[in-house]
Amino acid sequence: MSKVYFTDLRTTPNRNLLDKLVDLINRSKIERKIRNNDLVAVKVHFGELGNTAYLRPVFLRSIVRRLKEAGGKPFLTDTNTLYTGSRSDTVSHLTTAIHNGFDYSCVECPLVIADGLRGRSGAIIPIAGEVLKEVHIAKEIADADALVAITHFKAHELSGFGGTLKNIGMGCATREGKLVQHSTVAPRVNPNICKGCKLCQSYCPRGAITVASGKASISGSKCIGCGECTLICPFHAIEVQWNESPDIFQKKMMEYALGALKGKAKKSLFINFVIQVSPACDCYPNNDAPIVRDIGILASDDPVAVDAASCDMVNNEVSLPSTAIKRTLAKGEDKWRALFPQIDWNIQLDHAQRLGLGTRKYTLTKI
Ligand code: SF4
Ligand code: SF4
Repeated sequence: MSKVYFTDLRTTPNRNLLDKLVDLINRSKIERKIRNNDLVAVKVHFGELGNTAYLRPVFLRSIVRRLKEAGGKPFLTDTNTLYTGSRSDTVSHLTTAIHNGFDYSCVECPLVIADGLRGRSGAIIPIAGEVLKEVHIAKEIADADALVAITHFKAHELSGFGGTLKNIGMGCATREGKLVQHSTVAPRVNPNICKGCKLCQSYCPRGAITVASGKASISGSKCIGCGECTLICPFHAIEVQWNESPDIFQKKMMEYALGALKGKAKKSLFINFVIQVSPACDCYPNNDAPIVRDIGILASDDPVAVDAASCDMVNNEVSLPSTAIKRTLAKGEDKWRALFPQIDWNIQLDHAQRLGLGTRKYTLTKI
């Protein structure tokens, strides 16, 4: 059994939610995980522009202060996205983060986009996975001494729910690593959009792109799946083929989590905010109404246990009216399946458990 600590959202003038959050971290014995001057990667999601469900920066400030007190040198971090959006290169990503409130004056630590200017900076980490034998993890996260993952817990269309394990598995991968998880084939050029400008050809590190008769095409046998061209095309003519099956996608994501945590087993902490549980990822430029009431904050050394407990708590709620869930679901009914009937979200928890990332069995201690 793994220990999961939980606080609900009830507060008093003498003990506000930030105080309760620090209590949670204290119960997790942060001093045992962080040595003096450890560089601590605090993995967050800064939110796509237009999304308002991402975590409030003031929560991060409380966590950052506590990590500094413990002797660490924290930095807030995330990786560039695979799709083209407001966080697909480091300049846009940092600008978005600051627009969303994550600047130094608020969070009191630097922001580092962990996979470099264009998402190329990674470390290849060997793993003994069922599907993968190596993973591509963002360099600055791989190089950090410790990892604290702070996650907004919500639903996700490919994995049922998106929690700590997804924040680490997908969120710590380079663009190449994200593409491996999402797709089994090379990106595709849409000939109706391509202008034949040859920019992609000049960027491709493997010479996989040719331009003939004013249209680019990609050789599947030469492409290594770095994803570079999908970002570089000024007309967005190159598309990821999001064809991986949800079952294998979840397994790969857990194997990426295994790689991201390699060497950090006793140097990590996982915190889920089960508030504003939206029906889709914070990568969208919007967020639909929360599907259950705000529940609280959970913390654990075990990334599987903290997600399992968060999942169970959501499923033990009555669903709210007027949300993406069409009919009111009772306590105990599966909210993730109601949103995405074709997705078996248990796969990610079971596979993570098999990989030795943690256990679904937990004891919940309310503080
Ligand atoms: S960069 Fe885009 S528009 Fe230019 S050749 Fe490549 S696919 Fe076509
Ligand atoms: S994904 Fe990378 S290797 Fe493949 S075609 Fe695009 S740039 Fe070239």
